[in-house]
Amino acid sequence: MKCEELLAMLNEYVDGSIDPAVCDAFKEHLTGCNPCQVVVDNIRQTITLYREGKPYELPVAFREHLHAALRRRWQEKHGHENHN
Ligand SMILES: [Zn+2]
Repeated sequence: MKCEELLAMLNEYVDGSIDPAVCDAFKEHLTGCNPCQVVVDNIRQTITLYREGKPYELPVAFREHLHAALRRRWQEKHGHENHN
């Protein structure tokens, strides 16, 4: 899995459509990619804090905010590296 694929998966996670924690490819990538680890931890914490452990749907505005934060952190961590 590439960093970009992981980011796409994380966007779906924010939307509540998947749980990347159960995906082996996701976990495997995180094991070897520190920038992705940092971004994923951060987003998970934000979602967990919001839900306080309950499986609530996130409001659209909050999801959009998270998507933006996700992209920003991603760019901070990955810089202008090219992941072809
Ligand atoms: Zn990565």
